[in-house]
Amino acid sequence: MFCPKCGFKQQDDAQFCMSCGVSISNLPQTSQQQPFQQSFQQDYQQNYQMQVQPGNGAANTSLICGIVGIFILGLILGIIAIVQGNSAKKQGYVGSKATIGIVLGILDIVFSVLWLLFIIVTIAALSTYQY
Ligand SMILES: [Zn+2]
Repeated sequence: MFCPKCGFKQQDDAQFCMSCGVSISNLPQTSQQQPFQQSFQQDYQQNYQMQVQPGNGAANTSLICGIVGIFILGLILGIIAIVQGNSAKKQGYVGSKATIGIVLGILDIVFSVLWLLFIIVTIAALSTYQY
């Protein structure tokens, strides 16, 4: 059986939890403790699988480049975000980070091109006014 407070595994005849010291003998058992332990293990396994998922590193790089590219170096970081996002998906990454990275990467490039056009048009307009 397991401690209802901290989930520590107990001997069946234990009166108090070996880990946190809570009294076990007078608490209702079997129905509550096992689900707690199972859900804890499931959460842990899901987190662990997310961390070691193939292509997770590339997906993180894609997402970070996509976000940073909104503010600076959008053309370069946008391309990196798209390449890394696709690379993550090819490696078998399943999740939203790679997709968000790719979408942000495309937006980075679009905004960068618009900014470049804006600057070119502005310079062209200014230089024609000088004549
Ligand atoms: Zn305990």
